[in-house]
Amino acid sequence: MALVDTHAHLDFTDDLNGWLVRARADGVDKIICVGTSIEASRKCIEIAERYSSPDLQIYATVGIHAQDGKDDVGNAGSLLQCFKTLKQIATSSGKVVAIGECGYDFYLDGEKRIKMVDKDRQFQKKLFEAQIRLAAELDLPLVVHCRNAWKKTFSLLSTVYGLPTRTGVFHSWTGDWEAAQKAIELGFYISFSGIVTFGNAPDVQDVASRMPLDKMLLETDSPFLSPVPFRGLGNEPKNVKIIAEFVAKLRNLSVGQIEEVTSKNAQRLFGI
Ligand SMILES: [Zn+2]
Repeated sequence: MALVDTHAHLDFTDDLNGWLVRARADGVDKIICVGTSIEASRKCIEIAERYSSPDLQIYATVGIHAQDGKDDVGNAGSLLQCFKTLKQIATSSGKVVAIGECGYDFYLDGEKRIKMVDKDRQFQKKLFEAQIRLAAELDLPLVVHCRNAWKKTFSLLSTVYGLPTRTGVFHSWTGDWEAAQKAIELGFYISFSGIVTFGNAPDVQDVASRMPLDKMLLETDSPFLSPVPFRGLGNEPKNVKIIAEFVAKLRNLSVGQIEEVTSKNAQRLFGI
C-alpha cells in the first residue's frame, strides 16, 4: 500500500521534479494538487496532465481560496462570470477530482486582531456558496478550508444550498472534538496536515486519536505547515509519511494500517 498526499500546492514550487522524485522514493503514489485561484487551478491541471507517471499519479482540484477571490472576481468582472470560467476549467480535464479549496478564512480577526469588515465576510460567503453549488452541480467533492469560522462554515454547509452528494473534506484540520463531530455528522472527511505533529495542537491530536478511521485523510499542504521535526522549514509531499507515522503512534496502529485506511478513504472520496 502506498500513501496519498490529498492536498499539496505543486504549483508553488520551483523544485517540482525534486518533490516528485522524493515523494515516490518515500512511498507516495498519488498527490492531489489543490487550486487556490483561477490561474492556480489551470496550473494544477497542467501539472497533473504532464507529470503523472505510472507509479505517481497526480490529480487536480479547481477552486478559489477565500483570500484570492477578490482578484479573480475583479478580473472576471463579476462573480457570475468568474464562476462560468471556473466551471469551464473544472470540466476541461478528467484530472479534476474536486472543487476547492474554498471556505471562510477569518485569519485577520483572530490572529492580528483586526476587525474584518462585514463586507469582506459577505464576499467570502458568496464565494464559498458558489463553490458549494458548483461541486453539487458537477457531482464532485468539496475541499473546505476553515479558519476561525466553524459556526458559519457548518451553518452554510448544512443549509438549503445543497450539499455535494459526495460531500468533501475539511483540509488541514485545526478544530476540536466538538467541531470534528459536526463535520463527520455532515458526512465530511477530516484531513490531517503537519499541524497534528505540533506540540501546541493537543485538540488536533485528540481528534486524530478518537475519530472514526474511515473518515480520515492525510495531507502535507506543501509548501506550508512542515511537520515536526521540519517545522518552520519548507514542506513537500514526501513528508506525508511523517504525518502517517505520527498518527499511527497516536492510534497504536502500524504505519501500514494507517496508510491502507487513509489511501482507501482518498480513493473513495475523490474517485481516484
Ligand atoms: Zn492549501
